[in-house]
Amino acid sequence: MSSPCLFCRIVNGEIPAKKLYEDDDVFAFWDISPQAPKHFLVIPKKHLTGPGAFSAEDEALIGKVVRIGAELAKENGVEQCRLVMNNGADAGQTVFHLHLHVLGGRPMSWPPG
Ligand code: AMP
Ligand code: ZN
Repeated sequence: MSSPCLFCRIVNGEIPAKKLYEDDDVFAFWDISPQAPKHFLVIPKKHLTGPGAFSAEDEALIGKVVRIGAELAKENGVEQCRLVMNNGADAGQTVFHLHLHVLGGRPMSWPPG
């Protein structure tokens, strides 16, 4: 049975995505609605709903998501970038499979809107 989760379905190849990186634990792909010249998402293959849902056993996995995000940013010419995880609907989360946004290629303002 296919997963109801959009990002699990991308990992499984049921929904196409522009893949940037994949290993046993992590998957990265370009955001379908980029908010910067370079905007991609890094996700754990394991389904976790968001940063609020991971436990101590997931710490290494989430660390890897962040490390891979920063490495891919450098490889794609945006070493200086914004790395963001939205946690919950009020924070702007719309897909409830943990993901790290990596955005770069334009000046970023702070605080975010
Ligand atoms: P968030 O609002 O933090 O949950 O981010 C979800 C992100 O997923 C948004 O930036 C969307 O543009 C992106 N997104 C939604 N569907 C797809 C898809 N099929 N392929 C790539 N990115 C997607
Ligand atoms: Zn999922």
